[in-house]
Amino acid sequence: MTLPTNVFRRPPVKWCRIEEKAERLLEECRAFEGKERVPLPIPVERWIERPLDYQFGIEDLSRFGPGVLGCVFIDEREILVSDRIRTDGRFRFKCAHELGHMVLHAGKGKNFHERGELEPGSDIEVEREADRFAVGFLMPNVELLLQLDEIVSDHALDLEQTLLAITGESTESRQLWTRLLVPELCRRFDVSRQALVYRLEEIRFRDGKQLLPKRIASELVRHGSAPSARASSRH
Ligand SMILES: [Zn+2]
Repeated sequence: MTLPTNVFRRPPVKWCRIEEKAERLLEECRAFEGKERVPLPIPVERWIERPLDYQFGIEDLSRFGPGVLGCVFIDEREILVSDRIRTDGRFRFKCAHELGHMVLHAGKGKNFHERGELEPGSDIEVEREADRFAVGFLMPNVELLLQLDEIVSDHALDLEQTLLAITGESTESRQLWTRLLVPELCRRFDVSRQALVYRLEEIRFRDGKQLLPKRIASELVRHGSAPSARASSRH
């Protein structure tokens, strides 16, 4: 059984262009590797170099200023990410965020040097756009829903009943999200809990009902990071 993906609304129009851009690049990478489905977790660092053909480096970026964690040089087609966060759960999100600047913002600047917040939710428009790109690239919607479907099947749960349960704010829903779905999705996609929740929150049914109820989403974010899944999900 598969999730009825056609019942889900598309994201707001202004984000569609970014979402489509991320999907196109993912498709290009998937085809390049000759795979039927994108590999998980999305190998963003590897794909930035090949097939996407950008220069990529992990190095000390302190020469660009204190606290600089990522740089994009549009003309040089170069992305640098700080070695300070190499083993950090934020690293992959940062790589995808910088790739977002590279493919979305060529007309808005030559270079992007940034520091500080690395998780979704910035108020600055270009940063929000790069975040949007990053969540789209690291957690493609179709794959997210397929994985959700697989987790439900793997645990011998009934899909229809589970869907009904998890869209409500019952104790059962809370337990399913916090003990099973969120930790498992974080592990499979190798993303932080915050990035995953940001992505899940925008998935809605046609009647506007959220897949992940708002109150549970805020609890998940408030209660900090998901247990580290990096080690077990590295291939
Ligand atoms: Zn940025």
